[in-house]
Amino acid sequence: MSETIFSKIINKEIPSDVVYEDDLSFAFRDINPQAPVHILIIPKKPIPQLTDAAISDQELLGHLMLVANKVAEMEGVVDAFRLVLNNGAGAGQEVMHMHFHLLAGRSFTWPPG
Ligand code: AMP
Repeated sequence: MSETIFSKIINKEIPSDVVYEDDLSFAFRDINPQAPVHILIIPKKPIPQLTDAAISDQELLGHLMLVANKVAEMEGVVDAFRLVLNNGAGAGQEVMHMHFHLLAGRSFTWPPG
C-alpha cells in the first residue's frame, strides 16, 4: 500500500505528540482536536481501513482496544470517553491507515452526526 502521513509519524519522519507506543501500536494527539482529549490510536501495521483487516489481525485489533483503555486511564478519562473509527471516505476517513479516535473531556451527543 502507499505510504501515508501516519506511517511517517510511526517512523518519526515527521513529529507528533506521542502518548503511548508499543511493538504493535502507536498513539498520538490529533493535530486538529475535536475535544479536550483527542488521541489517535493506530496499528503499526499499515492496514488501510478496518474492512481490510484479516482473521490474522484479530489479536492486533483486540490489542488496540486495550490500548484505548490504557490511554484513557493515562489521560484520566476512563469514566467517559468515545472511541470512533471512520471506515472509508464516505464515513469521513481521510487518512488511509486505520485509526481509532479517542475523544473525551466534553459531553457528546447521539447520534454522532
Ligand atoms: P479521519 O478523518 O478519521 O481519517 O482522521 C484523520 C485524523 O488525522 C484527523 O482528525 C486529523 O486531524 C488527523 N491528523 C492528520 N494529520 C495529522 C498529524 N500530522 N498529526 C496528528 N494528527 C493528524
